[in-house]
Amino acid sequence: MNEQIIEHCRKLVSDSDYRKTYLLGLKDKYRGLTGYFSNYIPEEIIAAAGFHPLRIIGSLNTSGPHLQTLFNPACSFVQDVYAAACSGEFSYLDHIIFPNSCDSLKLLYQMWESEVKEPSAYTLLHPINTDGGSIEYFAAQIKVFAEELHRNSGADFSQEEPANVIDKYNRMRGLLRQLYDIRKSNKAFLAGSDTIALMTAGLIMDRDEYHQILEQVVQEGRKQKPQQDKLSKNIMLIGPLMDNIHFLEQIEESGATIVDDDITNGTRYFDRDVQTQGDLYENLDRRYILSGPSPTLYTDPETDARLFQEKVAGPNPDGIIFINQKFCEPHVHNYLAKAEALKPMGIPILMLEVEHNRCEANERELLRIESFLEMLAVAEK
Ligand code: SF4
Repeated sequence: MNEQIIEHCRKLVSDSDYRKTYLLGLKDKYRGLTGYFSNYIPEEIIAAAGFHPLRIIGSLNTSGPHLQTLFNPACSFVQDVYAAACSGEFSYLDHIIFPNSCDSLKLLYQMWESEVKEPSAYTLLHPINTDGGSIEYFAAQIKVFAEELHRNSGADFSQEEPANVIDKYNRMRGLLRQLYDIRKSNKAFLAGSDTIALMTAGLIMDRDEYHQILEQVVQEGRKQKPQQDKLSKNIMLIGPLMDNIHFLEQIEESGATIVDDDITNGTRYFDRDVQTQGDLYENLDRRYILSGPSPTLYTDPETDARLFQEKVAGPNPDGIIFINQKFCEPHVHNYLAKAEALKPMGIPILMLEVEHNRCEANERELLRIESFLEMLAVAEK
């Protein structure tokens, strides 16, 4: 595997100065940079308006003066983003798009409007239900969002433009699925932590460059003969956004291989394509609202549990590590539902709650990870 590519990805995710320099280099290529949160925002609409879509994640520079800290229970990710925003970390963005999802992000939006102010913020209202009426409503909201962005960019807008962009994003999602499939038969090809770094870097990187990188990695993966795997426990990672790559490396150094995931910046990002026939807004809407059910949506718990069990049955891991951002309420509830769904499968689960701005696992967390892996080893004998 090309170490230079992986290092570039790791740095884009984990090094805020490197990321900023890289993004400023894209300013001339696009009409501007659009920051956004969450898997609910259709990047295709942002790209079709001529902007570069940048997912807000990763290590952030929070060294400047904060106007005030956000009160709990805002999750540690949102606390971190707010501190970074107050430190001017996002001043190079042209605007920022919020989803209508968890309370922490809603609070951040309010604070953005009243305190941060720049870059200007927009909320894409998506429904919390997934029935027919909600789909219609969301399609209308996406259309309003597209019109707003095009007014902003001054770009011409035709049905053709989003169709081309959708096709490009579908191909990218397809390559990511191929990459994950390659790892299923050849885990040693790429470490789990590197796979997540590669996946996450795609939310930041110029998508043309990203597409080329993915093609190269997938080609290499197809050519490589399956290698002997080191004796390690197969772990599946679940939870919300997990961008602390070093933390994931520490899990693998403790004797685990991350074989699959169900996280926001993992399979939940690419698990479905956008149909290209018919009304593009409705197609986008279906894809974004029906892919990887999020705990902020009102969905049927039994269906969610069944789908989750099917997802876990594929890689059939020795154990699951659920990593939650501290004070992330939706995913705490989700953890309880997932732990319940795993009981009949006999797969143990470890829950870790982490601070978003801390990239290293502390001693206590390392001890818990090691004990969990030892427990899995004993259970196997
Ligand atoms: S980590 Fe949880 S609470 Fe925080 S923004 Fe994500 S879903 Fe919302």
